[in-house]
Amino acid sequence: MISVEQALEKILSYVDVLGEEEHPILDCLGQVLAEDIYSSINIPPLDNTAMDGYAVQSRDTYGASQQSPRVLRVIETVTAGSLPKCEVETGTATRIMTGAPIPKGADSVVRFEDTDEALRKGLSDKISILCQVDAGLNIRRAGEDITKGSIVLSRGKVIRPSEVGVLASLGRSSVRVIRRPVVAILATGGELVDIEQPLPTGKIYDSNTYSTAALVLRYGGIPKILGIALDNEESLVTRLHQGLDSDMLITTGGVSMGDYDMVRDVLAKEGEIVFWTVRMKPGKPLAFGKIRGVPHLGLPRNPVSYMVTFELYARPAILKMMGKKNLGKPTIEAVIGNPIVNTDGRRILARAVVEKRSGQYFARLTGAQGSGILTSMSLANGLVIVPEDKAQVEKGDVVQVMMLDWSEEVGIDI
Ligand code: AMP
Ligand code: MG
Repeated sequence: MISVEQALEKILSYVDVLGEEEHPILDCLGQVLAEDIYSSINIPPLDNTAMDGYAVQSRDTYGASQQSPRVLRVIETVTAGSLPKCEVETGTATRIMTGAPIPKGADSVVRFEDTDEALRKGLSDKISILCQVDAGLNIRRAGEDITKGSIVLSRGKVIRPSEVGVLASLGRSSVRVIRRPVVAILATGGELVDIEQPLPTGKIYDSNTYSTAALVLRYGGIPKILGIALDNEESLVTRLHQGLDSDMLITTGGVSMGDYDMVRDVLAKEGEIVFWTVRMKPGKPLAFGKIRGVPHLGLPRNPVSYMVTFELYARPAILKMMGKKNLGKPTIEAVIGNPIVNTDGRRILARAVVEKRSGQYFARLTGAQGSGILTSMSLANGLVIVPEDKAQVEKGDVVQVMMLDWSEEVGIDI
């Protein structure tokens, strides 16, 4: 049986970064930029004011104070988006609103609060300046944020809301990105019924397909639902073939030892099995290989084992295909509230609720750790990791916890 690390390394060695495509910026959230983005404009485009106030020649304010104001003549009002018409000369000022361009001749802006604006309300052609300002005060320089011709975002950058904003500020409506992987999902089992159908006695709804599809979406892929293969080879092969135009195939079931091993038989015939058990719990019966060239992950059928193995293996594979560099879920150290016994030297991943109290993380197990109890995954926000060589974790021990809802982008390595 191979270790979790060996399994992951193998899987990652079988998937490559995908090709590029161009998309509207809002569709690219979470994708990786495939081009360097240069700016063809200055941002801000012109010197402008950071405050509502009066654009002046700073010399005119020297010595000004509450007690000894300097009175200037107001020559015009400029709002954001309009251009000044008059030049500020000695003894004059332009009333100016945040974001509006600085008129010629002015070298600083006195904010309204440092004038008697409140008394005059812009209705007078005189303004009293109540403090002295230095040249440059309250002026945002053209190109201060982005300089024309400079590289603003580099290829490889993950597009977050801030990058969408930066791209929009440059007037870019679409960009080149690494494309999202299409992940085909197939469930197997005669007891399964799709959620669109009524539920006959003795059957259960197929939840694995939907939890996987949701995970694929969460990590940026495009799920392709192949449906449920019945317990016969023909049904399985037909559906598998419908997934061969995807970037990765995920099947659930039929790979565990002593189980109905049809999936494994079909895999052996249709492709290559690289490995099919991993030293972990849950999730020992994990198969990986290729079916007609498409990387294939055969995950356990148990809904919990299934989601846990997805997080460990399918998630990093999807992220790698998307061109991401940070593939590891962040882990933290927490004080555990329950003992855990490791009976057979496997890596245990136990569902836990993590809370922070007085600056310290505490983890408690979600209760019964049966792999069929999917609601325990819903309770959990972390997976407590018990190393293979640790036979017993005591209550109060410090353990590593993988944080399921934290982003890989915090940059912790696997
Ligand atoms: P098995 O690995 O065949 O022993 O299945 C473990 C448990 O998972 C059984 O109770 C199955 O009914 C259940 N199960 C298998 N596939 C799915 C699925 N796609 N959705 C929900 N439960 C499933
Ligand atoms: Mg079974």
